[in-house]
Amino acid sequence: MVQKEVDKMNINDILDKVIRKPYYYVPPCPECGSKRTGKIILSHDADTDQYIVETALKSGELTTVQDEYPFGNNLYCDDCGFTWWGRPELMWVSPGKILEEKTARGTVELLDKLKDTSKPKKKSVLQKFLVFRSPTK
Ligand SMILES: [Zn+2]
Repeated sequence: MVQKEVDKMNINDILDKVIRKPYYYVPPCPECGSKRTGKIILSHDADTDQYIVETALKSGELTTVQDEYPFGNNLYCDDCGFTWWGRPELMWVSPGKILEEKTARGTVELLDKLKDTSKPKKKSVLQKFLVFRSPTK
């Protein structure tokens, strides 16, 4: 191994011990034990829904946006759909721990999917524009 790589590894190890980031921890599902659990957030503004979900995913947290809390519950399981009431625990964790939570919840893949689905939207606006323009030819 090159000396530079060793240094880089040590720096990452050190940073992981020093840096602490806030993380709202939702415990595993009480029904099925899955770790793919998240918060339910109330929103009545469709424009901000994707932003809320995207921001949470970037932090490694799962979030779904609803008009109201199902059965008065604010936490949900992405695997079995079970909902329950609880308070996400604010933890100060290392980047390594956040990566663990991201992996457990599959947030990186979900974020990619979200970006993929938002792309065709932009395309369709362009397509509308092209259709609108074509009769003038
Ligand atoms: Zn579950």
